[in-house]
Amino acid sequence: MSGPAPLGVVVDLDDTLYPQADYLASAAAAVGVAAGSAGLDGAAVHAALRSELAAGSDAGGTIDRALLAVGVPASALAEVVPPLVAAFTLHSPPRLSPYPGVEESLRQLVAAAPLACLTDGNPAIQAAKVAATGLGPLLPVVVVSDSLGGRAVRKPHPAGLLAVAGRLGLPPGRLLVIGDRPGKDVAVAAAVGARSIRVRQGEYAAAPDEPRAEAVVDTFPEAAELALDLIGALTHG
Ligand SMILES: [Mg+2]
Repeated sequence: MSGPAPLGVVVDLDDTLYPQADYLASAAAAVGVAAGSAGLDGAAVHAALRSELAAGSDAGGTIDRALLAVGVPASALAEVVPPLVAAFTLHSPPRLSPYPGVEESLRQLVAAAPLACLTDGNPAIQAAKVAATGLGPLLPVVVVSDSLGGRAVRKPHPAGLLAVAGRLGLPPGRLLVIGDRPGKDVAVAAAVGARSIRVRQGEYAAAPDEPRAEAVVDTFPEAAELALDLIGALTHG
């Protein structure tokens, strides 16, 4: 590891602080209920959507593809899809359990340095997720990139991380990013000259280290301990 000591820490949300699969399962169930209310086979829509999400949660159009998979004609999608998209985006998961040790690690980080969360996605959904994890009080600054300019400024676009730096009052190059996705979290750090640690967990756990973070660890507490070390918050002796 090299470079000046970081002055602030930026954490990703999905698959970094909690398993996103838990949220997707909850939201897919809500869509299934809405599909049933719309006169469709709700259980079949639910199952098809789970399958589409499992194939890749990042792609748009998952609800469209799930409906086509259960036999809804393409000509009916324009009418059927909007209420189901609404059911997905308005869904508030009741509770999302953080990965083990995350709460204590965030407590240590927020006591040691300025701390922020930078996440991509629908701002209402991301806010609901933060609330459902119970981690909100430990994340004094949350920036949702989409609120700055839509999907176009999602990571690795630097806009979100630059906004975080502004909110924290720190030079972007003195931030340390902790996240699960090389192509987003590590890449956005590289885009502004910041340092990064990859946590190998969640949907992208097997993704190649491209670009490569300064350190790759298996759990958030490991990343946090390394971060505390880098910012000089740990006592050596
Ligand atoms: Mg993530």
